[in-house]
Amino acid sequence: MKWRLRAAFWVALLAGFSMMSVAAYGETRLSIGTGGAAGVYNQIGASICRFLRMRHRDHDLRCRNVKKGGSVDNLRALREGTLEIAVVQSDLQHHAYHGASVFEAAGPHKELRSLFSVVPEAFTVIAGARADITTIRDLEGKRVNIGNRGSGQRVAMEVVMESFGWTFEDFESATEINSALQANQICRGNIDAAVYMVAHPNLSVREATASCDSVLVPVTGPEIDQLISDNQHFVKALIPADRYAANTAPVPSFGVTATVVATSATPPDVVYDVVKAVFENLEEMRTLLPVFANLNKEFMLSPYHAAPWHPGALRYFQEAGIM
Ligand code: GLU
Repeated sequence: MKWRLRAAFWVALLAGFSMMSVAAYGETRLSIGTGGAAGVYNQIGASICRFLRMRHRDHDLRCRNVKKGGSVDNLRALREGTLEIAVVQSDLQHHAYHGASVFEAAGPHKELRSLFSVVPEAFTVIAGARADITTIRDLEGKRVNIGNRGSGQRVAMEVVMESFGWTFEDFESATEINSALQANQICRGNIDAAVYMVAHPNLSVREATASCDSVLVPVTGPEIDQLISDNQHFVKALIPADRYAANTAPVPSFGVTATVVATSATPPDVVYDVVKAVFENLEEMRTLLPVFANLNKEFMLSPYHAAPWHPGALRYFQEAGIM
């Protein structure tokens, strides 16, 4: 009798475990393309997966946050069908959809679909304390990390270089280091400055300002004003004060918006589950990280979207009465 009870106990326990693992890890692949480990895209992807796991009884998604090189890499992977969802800059969403800028050779990606916006991003210049860089113009002649290929900051930096009439020869050196490693390179004195298109606060700038007194450099001047008025995708931006140890005053720059996209090949049910998981956990997401503290629905549905809404996202917005 005793062994039977024991056997029944183990059978029930194992059945419970296997059901749990199916529910927790799901069957349908959902890869979310994000960015470098110290960036905010990585935190957005991780949060989406976290909320999906919390609601695992409602869906069968196996969510994976895939750290990639940034917006351009993500948009290429979406087009190739190796990602289901990605976080990308609003300007690059536009360029991919219309086949402009870095996507000119690839042509328009008309299957690109929009889910929602997340946070504003600012073109950020981080300089070593002893690099003698106080304005963006001072980057000339310095050792500057202009961003890895495949990142959004790299595309923005090329626009900035064009507006100052700079080529690679105008820097002592122009490196293409991944954003995750640039703070370390500044603090070791291997480079003088780095650029990053990113929301604040983030781990990369925190590392640079906490471990070696790096500073945020204002991105202003007539060239930048011209760049903003020539580019419908760039807006004036302000990195608020007190986000980092060394940053006591707000730092002006220009910026874009971090948006979440998919393609028409991503099933509406999958997108519906993703959007629902995020919007029904906004309260928790705001408390998760300081960079999410000001998340709000109006901004998330803001018109920074070149691609049409994904039907799965629309279904949720209509059902929830927010669109
Ligand atoms: N905006 C950057 C890019 O598109 C990524 C920023 C981040 O990872 O938070 O490459």
